[in-house]
Amino acid sequence: MRLAKRAMRVTPSATIGLTRKAAALKAQGVDLVAFTAGEPDFDTPDCIKEAAIEAIRAGDTKYVAKGEKALAEAIREATLAERGVEYDPSQVLVSCGAKHSVANACLALLDSGDEAVIPSPYWLSYPEMVRLADAVPVAVDTSPEDGFVPDPDAIRAALTDRTRLIILNSPSNPTGAVFPPAVVREIGRIAVEHDLWVIADEIYDKLVFSGSTFSSVLEAGPELVDRTILINGASKTWAMTGWRIGWALGPKAAISAMSAMQSHLTSNPTSFCQTATVEGFRSARESVAMMKAAFQTRRDLMLEALAPLCHARTPVPGGAFYVFPDVAPYIEQLGLEGSITFSEWLLEQARVVVVPGEPFGNDRCIRLSFATSEAAIEQGVCRLVSALCERA
Ligand code: PMP
Repeated sequence: MRLAKRAMRVTPSATIGLTRKAAALKAQGVDLVAFTAGEPDFDTPDCIKEAAIEAIRAGDTKYVAKGEKALAEAIREATLAERGVEYDPSQVLVSCGAKHSVANACLALLDSGDEAVIPSPYWLSYPEMVRLADAVPVAVDTSPEDGFVPDPDAIRAALTDRTRLIILNSPSNPTGAVFPPAVVREIGRIAVEHDLWVIADEIYDKLVFSGSTFSSVLEAGPELVDRTILINGASKTWAMTGWRIGWALGPKAAISAMSAMQSHLTSNPTSFCQTATVEGFRSARESVAMMKAAFQTRRDLMLEALAPLCHARTPVPGGAFYVFPDVAPYIEQLGLEGSITFSEWLLEQARVVVVPGEPFGNDRCIRLSFATSEAAIEQGVCRLVSALCERA
């Protein structure tokens, strides 16, 4: 039987072979160190868990209409405090994770054949979502020499009369780059000049380390409010990846369209998870500070441990919990094809699991997550460095 063309457009996971090999080795009892986590390794703060349990006991277990929950109000208040923009209740949509929010936005904003400009390396779901919306992802490369910060001129050069939107993600997954305020503002101005939408995925905004300054595209001026879909969520801020709570704020017409689509596809995000997330805004400030401090210590530890790899270029990540070194000289010295075979080599030779850069749009790099213990970082990076220094 024939499947829809849409289904064929989605790229199957390029790293499935690697994941299978790692799982098989683990099942055999081989001691592996994994740097693959895309989520905080901390537990959700107790106050949020307690709020969820209480909500379930109180019968908060039914369908929820948009805007019925206190969460939307908490999001509006936080956005006003943090971004200085007052959104109307009709301009907030809570979804089943920020991933769902970005997908809603792509479906609501893109038509067949439209182009979406995405600085690369990018979070690997963006191009897939754009393709699911029948549109075309246009990657704009950034380099480790520039700290993986996009060059506004390169973005300008990528625009065509089919360009409809720019996707911005700072701090970035997979690079940890925090785009400087001047760059973010310039990209915002490009969007205004060329009448483009911006999807600003700010999900790592609470994980910005000292020395880096977070900047939202809304700072480019009041005109940005009418063309930006601001994305955020609970997953990274409060270690709530499994709860599936994310949100979008934007112009009323776009949010209404996204809400209508969501109402037919998933109805509401889980009722008691929404209730419990309010507690994150209210009471989890200390947990956020603790996680951020721990991530910064681990980042420094990982960079120090990677330092002996003198042929790798490793920009210092200003946020999130990823390091994205350019290991192309090692890939070449080993006679390997690219980041996927290099990651397989590391698995076999160093018993370390990393994520290849290829699905993020950069085949020279690998992603190492420092959302793991200091002991794992010390042991795993030491193994990786020894394997490379011995063999390459
Ligand atoms: N955006 C980025 C950049 C991410 O890294 C992730 C999670 N990996 C998400 C969105 C999705 O987060 P959520 O769990 O809220 O769907």
